[in-house]
Amino acid sequence: MTGETSKFDILIVGGGLVGCASAWHLARLGLKVLVAERGHLNSGASGQNAGSLHFQIERRFLEQGEKAAADGARIVTLNRLALEEWRGIEHMLGRPLDVAMHGGLMVAETEAQMALLAFKVARENELGLSTQVLDGAQLRERAPYLSPHLAGAAWLADEGHANPRILVDAFAEGAGEQGARIRTGTALTGLSMARDGTYSAVLSGPDGEMRVNTPRVLLASGHWVPRLAGMLGLNVPLYAAPLMMSVTDRTEPVLPYLIQHVGARLSMKQTEDGNLLIGGGWPSRLARRADGTPDLDRPAAVEMKNLRANLAVAARVMPGLAQRSLLRTWTGTTCISADQLPIVGEIPAAPGLFVAAGGSLFTLGPVLARLLARTIAEGSAPEELSMFLPRRFAHLDAFAVLP
Ligand SMILES: Cc1cc2nc3c(=O)[nH]c(=O)nc-3n(C[C@H](O)[C@H](O)[C@H](O)COP(=O)(O)OP(=O)(O)OC[C@H]3O[C@@H](n4cnc5c(N)ncnc54)[C@H](O)[C@@H]3O)c2cc1C
Repeated sequence: MTGETSKFDILIVGGGLVGCASAWHLARLGLKVLVAERGHLNSGASGQNAGSLHFQIERRFLEQGEKAAADGARIVTLNRLALEEWRGIEHMLGRPLDVAMHGGLMVAETEAQMALLAFKVARENELGLSTQVLDGAQLRERAPYLSPHLAGAAWLADEGHANPRILVDAFAEGAGEQGARIRTGTALTGLSMARDGTYSAVLSGPDGEMRVNTPRVLLASGHWVPRLAGMLGLNVPLYAAPLMMSVTDRTEPVLPYLIQHVGARLSMKQTEDGNLLIGGGWPSRLARRADGTPDLDRPAAVEMKNLRANLAVAARVMPGLAQRSLLRTWTGTTCISADQLPIVGEIPAAPGLFVAAGGSLFTLGPVLARLLARTIAEGSAPEELSMFLPRRFAHLDAFAVLP
């Protein structure tokens, strides 16, 4: 493929959930799509995550005070769309994806945390999400296996989890059937804009280099987006967040719900196979180069102090967990934007260049891919995307030099 020039309507860089789901929608809309994934499909955060489908406002939006929480609450509108998307996703893709939406509890241990839950639930209800506050007795009735010391919880009947190991392949196979070309082991190593506004991309794969000229590029490359946008001198304010997940041995079905905590980092659920998955946003440690700078291309390392703290919170909330054996802990790296909301859409300084990254994009990836595909195919963003568009950070690219 050395020196080959091909014509595609869009080049998608990244074969994770966002890239493959976008390819699926765009191919169905009739675009000629090329996906380039430097490793294998699902090798990034999409294959390493907790698989939680959380539609309540996340703790990270609540821990910076009421103003930040009120801003963060705006994401509920998108969460509601995501909830509907997940309800129909197995039918849409025509196969089981281990989607279990039996409900979710965000627990509180103290009265102060209960007050925060009440604040959160009021915002959610205003925005049409039907969360409700359970007091301690109601919580014990619903989930007797949780610790009796818990003060209460917020309950949402639609939360749950799905299997991150199979979703991306389902989208990729469907996209392929619709005519999308998917090249794995193929990295974007060069990107420039020509005078006519089209893009020239250099892809390095097993057979050498390939040059692709295309009117549109979608950077769906997770925490590598800033590096790739940087090839054009553009700044996308996304920051790598290296995290950890743990899994216990199998046990009989004990935990039908997704468990989160309003005052501590915790997510917990039981898989269809009976294993308990424990996470919640505890940081792992980024690899470092010899000069001390972070190396985003090597896996992050487990941070033992944080692992112990994560397990301690989990066992405090569900005491029976102390009897289980830990099978494995792994790391994965995701990214968070400067205002914690996803960045999805066209970069104003570079027409035809789209990005989609930042935040909980396992939960939100499928619906964002649908909205983004409409944006790309129709040439304008639907209203639902307006608060996530990159234009809110347009000032960062005021000094970009493009042809
Ligand atoms: C431990 C952990 C737990 C999480 N838990 C949850 C959760 O429970 N619920 C939730 O909603 N979200 C969760 N997330 C976040 C979620 O996993 C991510 O937001 C989502 O998977 C991002 O998908 P993506 O397709 O944007 O990125 P990725 O899956 O990271 O895919 C990006 C792809 O781009 C490729 N790439 C990079 N550079 C290049 C290049 N130059 N050329 C070609 N390809 C390139 C990479 O190889 C990678 O495959 C979690 C994340 C982690 C790490």
